[in-house]
Amino acid sequence: MNNIATTLFLGKGYRVKKQVRKGNELRVYIEYEGKQRCPRCGSENLVKNGKDTKWRKKLHMSFGFFRVYLLFKRQRYKCKDCGKAFSQVIPILRKKERFTSFFKQAVIFWLIFFPFDLLSLLLGVSRRTLLKIAEEFISRVMIEELKDKERLVIGMDAHRFHRKDFALLLVELLSSLPFGLIQDKKKAFMDFLLSLPPRVREKIDEVVMDMTVRYRRAVEEILPHAKVVCDPFHLISYMNHQLMEEKRVIEVVKKRKIPGRVLRLGKEK
Ligand SMILES: [Zn+2]
Repeated sequence: MNNIATTLFLGKGYRVKKQVRKGNELRVYIEYEGKQRCPRCGSENLVKNGKDTKWRKKLHMSFGFFRVYLLFKRQRYKCKDCGKAFSQVIPILRKKERFTSFFKQAVIFWLIFFPFDLLSLLLGVSRRTLLKIAEEFISRVMIEELKDKERLVIGMDAHRFHRKDFALLLVELLSSLPFGLIQDKKKAFMDFLLSLPPRVREKIDEVVMDMTVRYRRAVEEILPHAKVVCDPFHLISYMNHQLMEEKRVIEVVKKRKIPGRVLRLGKEK
């Protein structure tokens, strides 16, 4: 039975108790026997103190309609030294998450090859979930990289993510490192800035954004030392947009068409 633990990339300390096939689901019941420490005093002098009453279930692998779930009950312990009661830490199963850390790694891997929409279909997981996993990965891994840089220039750009949902991609422009993928909402943006470690926040001295400067206020509030800059690409596209709007208005008022060529040549007529 425990060959399957290896097949499922579970590693040391995990034991498969049984597997049940139910429709398109494979449910794998596991136990974890890795060493535990008291979270309060660090002691390993523990006594077992019952188990969860209900089975918990986390998504481990997924392919189209086929899914593999891990089911487990956390062992509870009591510390013999300080009396603290706690439940065991299982490395691949983080609390409050619906999937295992293996599943998250797989998502990051597949995102190198497939766009969100396609991967969402292939894995049978919502785009929101994929976005959340990517978000967490980008901030955890990339922010480590940014800590050692001397100064940071942040660029932000909205990407259409799913019809009307926009995601905001944050890139460190001097090193071209993407380091944040968040919902295009002011609150999400502010929360993200606040969640950056102070060492990273202090080093941001420019934030480059598009002409709408929707997030200017947020930047001024949270990064008072940073300059807000409008980048030339966005400036030109904004000017073009304004010019075309003006042309359209004049056309309506004067009831005659202005050829676009006139604007491009910059001649008055
Ligand atoms: Zn203790």
